[in-house]
This record gives sequence, structure tokens and C-alpha cells, in this order.
Amino acid sequence: MAQLPLPGRPVEAQLSDHDRLVLGDLPQPVVDILARLMADGHVAVLVGGCLRDLLRDVVPNDWDVATSAPPETVAALFPGASWENRFGTVTILEPIRVEVTTFRVEGGYRDRRRPDEVRWGSSVEEDLARRDFTINAAAWVPTEPGSRAGRLVDPFGAAADLRVRLLRAVGEPDARFAEDALRLLRAVRFAACLDLRVDPPTEAAIRAQASSAASVSGERVRDELLRILTCDSLPSVAFALMEQLGLLSVLLGELAALRGIPQGKPLAGDALDHSLRAADALPVDDPILRLAGLFHDLGKATTMAAGHFTGHEQVGAQLTDAVMHRLRFPNAEIDRVVHLVREHMFAYTHEWTNAAVRRFIRRVGAGALDDLFALRAADAAASGGTTSLDELRRRVAAQLRESPIEQRQLAIDGNDLQRGLGLAPGPVIGALLERLLDSVLEEPARNRPHLLLGMARQMLAAGVGAQRVPPDKSDQPAGNQG
Ligand code: ATP
Ligand code: MG
Repeated sequence: MAQLPLPGRPVEAQLSDHDRLVLGDLPQPVVDILARLMADGHVAVLVGGCLRDLLRDVVPNDWDVATSAPPETVAALFPGASWENRFGTVTILEPIRVEVTTFRVEGGYRDRRRPDEVRWGSSVEEDLARRDFTINAAAWVPTEPGSRAGRLVDPFGAAADLRVRLLRAVGEPDARFAEDALRLLRAVRFAACLDLRVDPPTEAAIRAQASSAASVSGERVRDELLRILTCDSLPSVAFALMEQLGLLSVLLGELAALRGIPQGKPLAGDALDHSLRAADALPVDDPILRLAGLFHDLGKATTMAAGHFTGHEQVGAQLTDAVMHRLRFPNAEIDRVVHLVREHMFAYTHEWTNAAVRRFIRRVGAGALDDLFALRAADAAASGGTTSLDELRRRVAAQLRESPIEQRQLAIDGNDLQRGLGLAPGPVIGALLERLLDSVLEEPARNRPHLLLGMARQMLAAGVGAQRVPPDKSDQPAGNQG
């Protein structure tokens, strides 16, 4: 993760358009790619986020090159690179990832989402003019192939804006946000993550067009949110700005609805303040866990009655599921967050029996325990309270070490049941294993083959799974269907 520069650190003295600029730390593979394109007779420049980061004295996390060479030519010059035709981007992966994009001039944006057509441009300046914010709209041109000495192309004042920490749209803000509504959210990301002030005309345009953010595809919003959740500043900064600019209610209405819901905790603030603090308290390298912090109390907006939020974890789980589907998160990530939201209200006390600890482990799942403890710690920190999970952690570790918790740890399996009881394969086997596990969770000493088989026989006689026994067994007395 890139480091933010020291506050107030000057951005490369007083750089401006056409100034000489030596990029001493430019990685050799990037130097080589620029040189290869130039040697073949094309213009090739460094652009976008990486140049912005270099000007801020921050190590870039990806490299972007723009060139006058058409995509076919770029692809031919770098065999092995992959080529996304629609946007003219050729991605070189070895030895480092560099995206090479042909200069573009964009056409209309009828749907406010993606350009209707992308046309190749012929100059750096044209290419820079279609970029979103001034800080992203500068380029660097090497003086000659292979050189780290070069010249800044900065027609919109990127260096000056970085120096005074200002976020400004390139050109006319209203027109730029109308072209692509994702820029509304990108503005929040850059302002919050890079600690920039939003220029008043840009800010006014964002407020005026906030409602159009609803038209941006779930995937694009998701990717931008993930970048917000993993940047160097706390999520609360970005989400507060989103709210202030009118974007939160458009993109995450379920979260915005927590504004004004009383929290009644030692720390001041409402349920939205609390949720943002919970996200802040979770690790920056796990954005999905941060989402669990952000969403854990979504259910509070509609469940408040007589000072309680009964069942808010269930309602919250449903809302989280809906939000994450809308934002096209992968199912595994949705399941992970929804499960944590649903389980976040566990109330451990010293009085829990070991069997209760085992049932807790089984309900949560051994693999989700660390997540759930992290969420609980963040929840407590965000309430201004403390929580001690040490004892529960110790007891959980002991039970995991000593006792069977999962079906696969039972001393018999489905085959043993079929053989031992003369049963055909079918749902009844699963139902019996479930019940045997319940029993072993109560008393681990029961986990011995002959005891389990005996219990299974009794369960069968008492009608466990009887409703689902295959047809040839279904002629049992109705009284056994309990
Ligand atoms: P990061 O450092 O987080 O990757 P970035 O500025 O490189 O940030 P990218 O999304 O990688 O952001 O885009 C690369 C460059 O492409 C941007 O710096 C900007 O110049 C341009 N760009 C990206 N998305 C848009 C957009 N929606 N509208 C206009 N220009 C864009
Ligand atoms: Mg980038």
C-alpha cells in the first residue's frame, strides 16, 4: 500500500506545463516499454494515477502508458500482452503490469455510463482533455527513448492542484459528470483518499447531478467502493463526504437511512456514525470485512421499538444481501458478509457451558470465527465501550482442539449408517448425522461408533427423517412421523 506523503510536503517544487522533470525511480520495465514504442516512431507517455502518485512522492500501485500507436501495433510490439479491443488497452503483465492505451477522443455518453464510441486520438493533449480530474490529466514524456529525464505535459494544472490539494474536473464540471456519472463517486474517492478539497464549481455540479449516480452499473460502483475501503484514509471520511454531497442516499439508501437513528451508546452520534466508525476499526487490507462493519446495523433503521432493535440482525442480513447483490458482489463475498451481520449479536457470558461454546462454534462455523470476533471488537470500539473476547477465544480454541464440532469429525459416517442399519442412501442419512452431531455436541463422550449406531437406531425408531424415507420405507405407522 502506497504511503501518503508527509502533510504539507511540496509537490515537486513549482512544476508546471512543459517543465523538465526527471523520474529517477521509474522502474526499468516501464522505461523500456516507453522506449520500445518511441523507437517504433510513436509518441509514448506516462499518464493517469501513476504520474499523479509520482508527483505526490508516493509509490504508484499500477502503471499507465498512453500512446499514439493503434492497439494492433502495440499488441504486435509486445507479444504475450493481452488486448481489450473496446477501449484500445493492451495490458503487459511481465515483468510488471503496465496498461498501454491508445490516445483517445471520446464520443457521446448517451447512457451516462460508458462512452457510446471510443475514437482514437492523435495527440497527448486531446487524450488528457477527456480525463476526469485535473490531477489525473497530466502526462510525462521522456526526452529520448530509454531516458528517465523528460518533460511534464500539464495543460490543466495537475501539479499546481496537487500542491494546493484541490480536486477539479477537467473542463466544464456539469458536462463532465453528465458524460459519466461514475465520476461523481470517483470525485469522492480522490477527495477522501488523497485528502483534497473539492473545488466549489465541481462540488456544485456533483450536488446537482447526485441523483444520476443511480444509473451507474453495480459493478462500477462496487469497484470504486472497494478502492475507497482500501485507501490510506479511513472509510468514514469518504462516506461522510458521500452523504454531504447527496450521493449516499442514491447509492446506499439502506445505509443513509441510519442517519438520526439513536444509538444510546457511550460514544456520541447516531447509528450511521456508529457504522462508519465500525468500518474504520476493521483492517484496511480486508475491504469485505470492512463492509460487514459498515452494514452490520442496517436493520436498525426499521426495527426500533421501545428503545430496542429486536431482530435487527435478521433484517440487517436481508438488507445486506440485497445491497450486495445490487452491487454485483461475488456470492462468496455476499455470503461472508450476510452471515457476519446475522451472527453479530451473540451474547457471551462466563456462564456458557462447554456445550454452548461448541454449539456457538458450529452455528458460526470455525472458519468465520476470526471475522466475527474482529467485527465484534470493531462494533464495541465504535460504541465507545470495550469488550473482552479473550475468555471466549480461549474456550473456543480449547473446544476446537479437544472436541468434535463438525459432522466429518463423527466416529461414523453415512456409509456406516447404511451398512449398520440397512438403510438405502437418501436424506434420512443426513438427518440422522445431524441429530447425532447435536447429541455429540452435548456430550463428546458419545462419539464412539457403537454408541452412535445405537442412538441412530433409536432415532430411526422414533421417526427421525421419517417423512423423507424413500417410498419402500414409507409404510410405517403415521404415529412415527413425529
Ligand atoms: P488508481 O491510482 O487508484 O488506480 P487512477 O487515477 O489510476 O487511480 P484508474 O481508474 O486506474 O484511476 O484510471 C486511470 C486514469 O484513467 C485516471 O487517472 C484518469 O485519467 C482516467 N480515467 C479513469 N476513469 C475515468 C473516467 N470515468 N472518466 C474519465 N477519465 C477516467
Ligand atoms: Mg490506475
